[in-house]
Amino acid sequence: MRVVRAGRRFLTVELGALTVTMLSDGETAMPLTHLRGADGAPLADLAGADVVDGKLRLPVRAFAVQGPGGSLLIDTGAANAWHPGLGQVGAALAEAGIGATEITAVALTHTHVDHISGLVDNDGGLAFPNAARIFVATEELAAFHAEPRMIPAVPRLVPLEQGDGPMPGVTAINAPGHSPGHMAFLVDGRLLIWGDLVHHAAVQFAAPQVTWVFDDDQPRARSSRLALMAQAARAGWLVAGAHLPDPGIGRIERKGAGYAFHPVTR
Ligand SMILES: [Zn+2]
Repeated sequence: MRVVRAGRRFLTVELGALTVTMLSDGETAMPLTHLRGADGAPLADLAGADVVDGKLRLPVRAFAVQGPGGSLLIDTGAANAWHPGLGQVGAALAEAGIGATEITAVALTHTHVDHISGLVDNDGGLAFPNAARIFVATEELAAFHAEPRMIPAVPRLVPLEQGDGPMPGVTAINAPGHSPGHMAFLVDGRLLIWGDLVHHAAVQFAAPQVTWVFDDDQPRARSSRLALMAQAARAGWLVAGAHLPDPGIGRIERKGAGYAFHPVTR
């Protein structure tokens, strides 16, 4: 892996014949009570937390995987559907020199608002008109259909299952808990784009048992995080996440009772 290009809102790494570009959608902040302990109550010990104006910093990211098999966008950001600091995936793509019309497929880690909204632009049109297929986990198709904003995207839906390849070199891996069909994507067998496995890196790498208030099934989210962190550390995979600190891609290693995250250098 090597970093080939970087700008304010993006960073591109090369993995063999593929490139992976981190696209920043912007940043918001969440109440301190969103981190949860083993008992489900707000986490008492917030030592080490990344706090901005009394809240937990929450960056939002999407990723573009490009290669001979096409250009796959993994997640799409919040567009204008959530917090005002977000909705910058389009600007990040432009900064990275990737045209919206170059995107040939989209895969969603899950169907929450900060991951799916960017599929449809603010005027109600498809933001990626040449994305012929939009991959959504089978368990989350109903949630996708229930979102009025997503109506233009429905005809392009393709159900996604563990082991499927939304493009050559990319494999879907079940990571349920944050949502029922939450998916991670392994790129070139060595970079795991893990969606919302971690919401607050400053706490959850050192203490991976800590959950997030919006984890749909807290024990299941915890066990998916523990299992995939262990697998990534053991295999020496790079990890990338929708809410990891800049630039959203790095190495993971065992440290004490948990892990440490080492972001790649810009
Ligand atoms: Zn999220």
